[in-house]
Amino acid sequence: MKDTLKHKGMRNKLAELLSTKGIKDKRVIEAIKTIPRHLFLDSSFEDHAYQDKAFPIGADQTISQPYTVAFQTQLLQVKPNDSILEIGTGSGYQTAVLLHLKARVYTIERQQELFKKTRLFFNKMHYRPKKMVFGDGYKGLPDDAPFDSIIVTAGAPEVPKALMSQLKVGGRLVIPVGVDEQVMTLFVRKSEKRFEKKELGAFRFVPLLEDKN
Ligand code: SAH
Repeated sequence: MKDTLKHKGMRNKLAELLSTKGIKDKRVIEAIKTIPRHLFLDSSFEDHAYQDKAFPIGADQTISQPYTVAFQTQLLQVKPNDSILEIGTGSGYQTAVLLHLKARVYTIERQQELFKKTRLFFNKMHYRPKKMVFGDGYKGLPDDAPFDSIIVTAGAPEVPKALMSQLKVGGRLVIPVGVDEQVMTLFVRKSEKRFEKKELGAFRFVPLLEDKN
């Protein structure tokens, strides 16, 4: 598959739609206009890649809806060089958005098949996260903590304590919390002990699964 002017046109339309839905951060809009989402999907979905919809990416997982990606990214208030931990690499689209904003991205995926596929794809595309880890995101990445922000892209039945503790003071954690439906939740770490919490509407994600061993 290639990236053509036709795809670029569709991306511009998608970016406009996201603006009307409330995405105000210009850099996020610019990322949506730039990143070739159709290349993150199976070729059979190519024609639909720029609809504001989630799609299957194999292993029972989905690439998040563009609005959701933009909404979560906007909440992170990414600055160049920020260190960001992402739980749920999946197709890698959200990772690519964060890389476009010049963040240093650490990303974790627990499905081996997807992990391998996306790692190959990143090599091919020259996307360079700081680290791609095959493992359980519930534990975060203690060796690389603390992070400027943490983004969870699967529905968490509860907020993993490890992730709260791996946030810098002033850092932001964006996590969809809930079982059947999730409430997008933003935590800002105000001090070592104090977190400010905001709830920002209902979303639907595949579940964040814990490896119990
Ligand atoms: N950011 C991805 C979203 C993929 S869906 C994208 O834009 O494509 C969520 C992903 O989280 C799935 O790939 C799923 O396998 C992964 N996941 C679920 N539980 C996890 C866990 N405990 N640790 C790491 N990844 C997890």
